[in-house]
Amino acid sequence: MTPELREQLRSIYRSADAAVAAAGPVCESSGKCCRFTEYGHTLFLSAIEAELLLETAPEYESVDRHGCPFQVSTLCTARVDRPLGCRVYFCDPSYQDAMPEILESHLRQIKQLADEHDLPWRYAPLHEFLGQALAEGRPARVPLPVTPH
Ligand code: SF4
Repeated sequence: MTPELREQLRSIYRSADAAVAAAGPVCESSGKCCRFTEYGHTLFLSAIEAELLLETAPEYESVDRHGCPFQVSTLCTARVDRPLGCRVYFCDPSYQDAMPEILESHLRQIKQLADEHDLPWRYAPLHEFLGQALAEGRPARVPLPVTPH
């Protein structure tokens, strides 16, 4: 990923983070949002989000559809470049009305960014991107400090 694209994507993430902060969902760090099967949802992301995530996420040895390999205890170890879905999804019932607009408006920006860089658009579950990266033998990374989700 080029430095320009990395910064542009991170800028969209900062905008999403600000919108979420303004909406004010409560997070009690239960970690259930990252245990997909248990919570009954699937984390989708785009190919450029997966590319950035894999640049800074820690090493992982296996992946499946049930949960994220970057969750340790209830915390995220890939927090710096976690995808849009991780940033905007919160289980707080009082936030559910605000979430779709924040997600959709920023996803549109990411799609536009991919188009501007002539990158093919692929939107798929997390385990597909991580499984593909494992199969391609992506190099191990240095784990980042664990910080609360
Ligand atoms: S990247 Fe982090 S926030 Fe996103 S699903 Fe994985 S552990 Fe959870």
